[in-house]
Amino acid sequence: MSPESKTALVTGGSRGIGRAICLRLAAMGYTVGVNYVSNPSAAEETLQAINDLGGKGFLLQFNVAESTAVQKALKAMSEEYGGPDILVNNAGITRDGLMARMKEDDWDSVVDTNLKGAFLCSKAVMRGMMKKRWGRIINISSVIGFLGNGGQVNYSAAKAGMTGLTKSMARELAPRQVTVNAVAPGYIVTDMTSELSEDIQEAIKAQVPLGKLGQPEDVAACVAFLASEESAYLTGQTLHVNGGMYM
Ligand code: NDP
Repeated sequence: MSPESKTALVTGGSRGIGRAICLRLAAMGYTVGVNYVSNPSAAEETLQAINDLGGKGFLLQFNVAESTAVQKALKAMSEEYGGPDILVNNAGITRDGLMARMKEDDWDSVVDTNLKGAFLCSKAVMRGMMKKRWGRIINISSVIGFLGNGGQVNYSAAKAGMTGLTKSMARELAPRQVTVNAVAPGYIVTDMTSELSEDIQEAIKAQVPLGKLGQPEDVAACVAFLASEESAYLTGQTLHVNGGMYM
């Protein structure tokens, strides 16, 4: 059974997919920690939206790629709110460019945020979950981790790495009834994809059997399922939410 305290943490919960996930988990009765790194006004908007639907939440500013900051924030969260019982590793960035011209910094920042961030946050919360013998870790991967993409070697490698992280963590934590799964979105309408030109967006749609880009709520619905009691016998898996782009 799920624990009584019901606390969730969503990294990068302030905007886009993370915001939609925060709202779904709040609607499920979780007290939601909304993490952000640099944009407090967007985080405030998410918190307001949680409150507007009668849910509970709080803000938690830290950089997922900084070990000390992660440990400090998650210790403070656990002391004040308990948990988290659910961790959604959603924070992610892109620094695109063809490999021949890609700067080492662009490789490091993407791998540090998108992959190491998930490792650090999971490591900081897993003990509490194992002790309770209940927990859900949900990693937001990407279709690009499965297809590859020119101009995104850093992003693609980090997201593919998330598959190995998910499977290995799932094996380590399964004896304590903590499940670890991933959701791999296709192209979803957020700030991240609004940078793409009209032409590129049309070219992407042409590769999607359902003929459209996805919405943050499409991803949040899968996360809600993985967070629920209904997914209790599912671990080490990736759910692909991409309109059929990769199957
Ligand atoms: P957005 O760019 O809209 O939002 C990114 C979020 O991550 C923001 O809340 C941002 O906080 C936060 N963030 C960024 N860096 C850090 C950091 N170092 N520490 C803590 N928080 C951080 O992204 P999306 O909603 O589009 O993407 C969310 C996730 O989904 C990412 O992992 C992305 O790779 C993945 N994804 C997205 C797809 C898409 O098409 N949009 C497709 C496939 C996967 P702040 O506001 O403070 O900057």
